[in-house]
Amino acid sequence: MINCLLCDQPISTKESFSNIFSFSKSQARTCQVCKAQFEKIGQKHCPSCYKYDEDKECEDCLHWRKQGLPADHLALFQYNQAMASYFSRYKFFGDYALRKVFASELKLMGKEWKDWQLVPIPLSQKSLEERGFNQVEALLEEAGLSYYNLLEKKETVKQSSLSRKERLETQQPFCLISETVPAEKILLIDDIYTTGQTIQHARKILLKAGAKTVKSFSIAR
Ligand SMILES: [Zn+2]
Ligand SMILES: [Zn+2]
Repeated sequence: MINCLLCDQPISTKESFSNIFSFSKSQARTCQVCKAQFEKIGQKHCPSCYKYDEDKECEDCLHWRKQGLPADHLALFQYNQAMASYFSRYKFFGDYALRKVFASELKLMGKEWKDWQLVPIPLSQKSLEERGFNQVEALLEEAGLSYYNLLEKKETVKQSSLSRKERLETQQPFCLISETVPAEKILLIDDIYTTGQTIQHARKILLKAGAKTVKSFSIAR
């Protein structure tokens, strides 16, 4: 008998047994009540970034299109209350065990994108030291997916200490670790997609370095 990682209630053997034969082929880590709190993004979503309940391209994506780099993102779940509290426990309280919650979904994603090089969005050295792990890498490792670290996050000045003008001219927060990009097709992986700012910075730098196509993926949007 194992307990749900989110509510600590025991997961019934029937539940975990049926899970063995479902698509995930792995032991359930969360009970069905908790898992049901996460809402999958349905058919109705922005075609460019998966923002849910959008019929056509959303405001954020129109912005990126105007900037000359249209978003090309997909996400699995809506960023709802359950997702917010999951990420707060996982990232800010550093509950490393929670990397297991989405392992089966990520495993499936990895199968669909097997010809693509997965590249996680990095943390700054400071955040990495504070948290003790990169939450995206931990998710991928738990799902048994290999990835390539191509990017490094520069230490950035706190936004609040910048002038308004400086804040508007958001600087490129990433640099490349290797001089060349070893894959033509790259899928950037992040945990949460908000406006797309972070992902777009990363895409820009990889495309400039020679990647042919750079798409992106996140657990939540
Ligand atoms: Zn639960
Ligand atoms: Zn969009």
